[in-house]
Amino acid sequence: MTKANMKAKDKAPSGAYSVIVVGAGMVGIAAAMRMQEYGHQVTLVDRAGPAGGTSFGNAGILASSSVIPVTTPGIIRKAPKMLFNPLQPLFLRWGYLPRLLPWLIPYLRHANMKDTQRIAEALNPIIGQSLQDHQALAAGTIAERWIKPCDYTYIFKDRAAFDADKPMWDIRKAMGHDWIEYEDDAFAAYDPFMADSHRFGVAMQNHGMIASPGDYIADLAKVFTDRGGQMITAEVEAISHENGHVTGIRAGGESVSADRVILTTGAWSGTLAKQLGISIPLEAERGYHVELWHPNTMPKTPLMVAAGKFVITPMKDRIRLAGIVEFGGLKAAASEAPFKLLMHNVRQYMPDLKWGEETRWMGHRPAPTDSIPVIGDVPGIKGVFMGFGHHHVGLTGGPKTGQLLAMLASDIQPNMDLSAYDMRRFSK
Ligand SMILES: Cc1cc2nc3c(=O)[nH]c(=O)nc-3n(C[C@H](O)[C@H](O)[C@H](O)COP(=O)(O)OP(=O)(O)OC[C@H]3O[C@@H](n4cnc5c(N)ncnc54)[C@H](O)[C@@H]3O)c2cc1C
Repeated sequence: MTKANMKAKDKAPSGAYSVIVVGAGMVGIAAAMRMQEYGHQVTLVDRAGPAGGTSFGNAGILASSSVIPVTTPGIIRKAPKMLFNPLQPLFLRWGYLPRLLPWLIPYLRHANMKDTQRIAEALNPIIGQSLQDHQALAAGTIAERWIKPCDYTYIFKDRAAFDADKPMWDIRKAMGHDWIEYEDDAFAAYDPFMADSHRFGVAMQNHGMIASPGDYIADLAKVFTDRGGQMITAEVEAISHENGHVTGIRAGGESVSADRVILTTGAWSGTLAKQLGISIPLEAERGYHVELWHPNTMPKTPLMVAAGKFVITPMKDRIRLAGIVEFGGLKAAASEAPFKLLMHNVRQYMPDLKWGEETRWMGHRPAPTDSIPVIGDVPGIKGVFMGFGHHHVGLTGGPKTGQLLAMLASDIQPNMDLSAYDMRRFSK
């Protein structure tokens, strides 16, 4: 048994700590459950309860092969045209541009082959075994019912559209991700759902999905409290420390003491990190979903529509269409145009689809400039750890990140190189 795979029942070498995990999204719930399994007293704090943030509304895909960042070579050429076309999945609230620029410029500097490769190599160890990581986290609990092993199928108008992106597929292959290609009649036989508009499908193997991410995390939180964990609903205002050691948190004007604090507040992590002297170039990449309840038909697997860069996931009792990148910060309300685009896609690609109720949601992907999550200890303050910044793959990478955070906070050194995730990279 490797240390990284240590079984939950293993005890932390230094005995039990009182631990506060701030943020009950996918990363936070995984960290809290793993800390609990190492024998610590764990309190999970979230201002909005379990899955109150981005982990609620994502596309639900355990997207192990999604190692390619948004900043691929060519994006700088394509992006301006996309911004002026409401049928393209990139939006900007123009008034936000001055605030965005200090983040955007270094972000776009990564749009080259060398960085794409480097980012993929950093993401793969965090997301590459996601289905198994989720199955291990939820094993034997009520939350297991939401995890569905399945293909994750990228669909294209034809083979030429797939071939156009060959260098990125070569990277996925080099990372060990296999697929089966379906063309023409074979594609229609594999899944007729989109076979009128698409002739080519790439079914990624060893993937999975969560049939209702909000319900899944709520179930995990119930398991956590049933096992003796404490869940508190409160806004954390500060992480307290004295003489280079963490002492706890301040929430709702009150102090709560702890030996260890783990910060997993996703796109909202910048302010709390800054108070600790850590400046992370973090933006909120706003994303959208529309749910069509009780549809007359569903795809067999989650589909990534490559041309429109959106996902259709067959969730419990509904289809969820999710995607879009919009820059506009954490505070602005949802925009109308991204919802219109998702509904336009429904009419364009699924003209015969019928459904009942419709629901809509907007959320914030936590996006560091280099598309690599921050996972590790906080320099200069013993006992504080951070895990956030998973961009488009935080549901996928949450369990592994939680496991790594729990090991570090339990004084166990994981047997993998964590230097790519170290927050010190931004202060060099
Ligand atoms: C449209 C869309 C589709 C996506 N699809 C996928 C997908 O298919 N697969 C995938 O892997 N990823 C997907 N993602 C990305 C994924 O959802 C995120 O990367 C992930 O949810 C981040 O998880 P997290 O735990 O870091 O943050 P969050 O889930 O945002 O959790 C952070 C929590 O911290 C709490 N919080 C913040 N500040 C405070 C504070 N001061 N005090 C107390 N609590 C606080 C918030 O309430 C929140 O609950 C998608 C994202 C979007 C927007």
